[in-house]
Amino acid sequence: MPRTVVPTSGLKPSNLDPAELAKFSALAHRWWDSQSEFKPLHDINPLRLEWIDAHAGLSGKRVVDVGCGGGILTEAMARAGAQVTGIDLAEKPLGVARLHLLESGLQADYRLVSAEALAEEEPGGFDVVTCMEMLEHVPQPESTLRACAALLKPGGHAFFSTLNRNPKAYAMAVIGAEYVLRLLPRGTHDYERFIKPSELARMARASGLTLQHLSGLQYRPISRTYRLGQDASVNYLVHCTRT
Ligand code: SAH
Repeated sequence: MPRTVVPTSGLKPSNLDPAELAKFSALAHRWWDSQSEFKPLHDINPLRLEWIDAHAGLSGKRVVDVGCGGGILTEAMARAGAQVTGIDLAEKPLGVARLHLLESGLQADYRLVSAEALAEEEPGGFDVVTCMEMLEHVPQPESTLRACAALLKPGGHAFFSTLNRNPKAYAMAVIGAEYVLRLLPRGTHDYERFIKPSELARMARASGLTLQHLSGLQYRPISRTYRLGQDASVNYLVHCTRT
């Protein structure tokens, strides 16, 4: 099915899907409840933070977290010493993220702006870009990748995570997580938007990014824990640098 571009305010078409943003806004009040729909994000957070920090050295870096939602990773990166801007196009998660700073005492700058618009405003403004569990919710992931690359200084680091597209990913991420284990609400993920690592690598190259590392993020349903490893067949993380 062709991916559609949805017009937003004004006449210029934008790379967003209002139905996706509405889904995240409707759940936003539960973002920081580690037993809620967002449990998987809480559970994977220490692993991905460590991976990002190991490759990019977050302390003292200027970071932009694209599709930050309620700020689970944004805050963790701020705690690791980064100066973080979190951006999202859903208002309610951003409101929750701002409120949560009062609780955590951390600092982050949360803005309702698209990656594409921020890239025009501040090209080359960041040392690190993170864009996690977001690409599978946008109509044109290649546009997001181009914007992420443009936000980076030369030599800067970009991190992406998303869901692979194959029968196993469908079985685990849609049937397993949404229907059997009920980790996520039904309709959270649209299989057609899942992205194969080869496709992400192609988009990265076309954006001027060089692929450095790829790591699988495996869910072990019996122990209900996650680990990083070779198996990228369902969820995976990618590290690129800007050339
Ligand atoms: N990156 C966060 C949240 C993932 S949930 C984390 O991993 O913890 C996906 C987020 O992407 C939601 O907050 C949703 O509002 C956001 N999103 C979806 N489409 C977007 C778009 N076009 N631009 C910016 N954010 C978007």
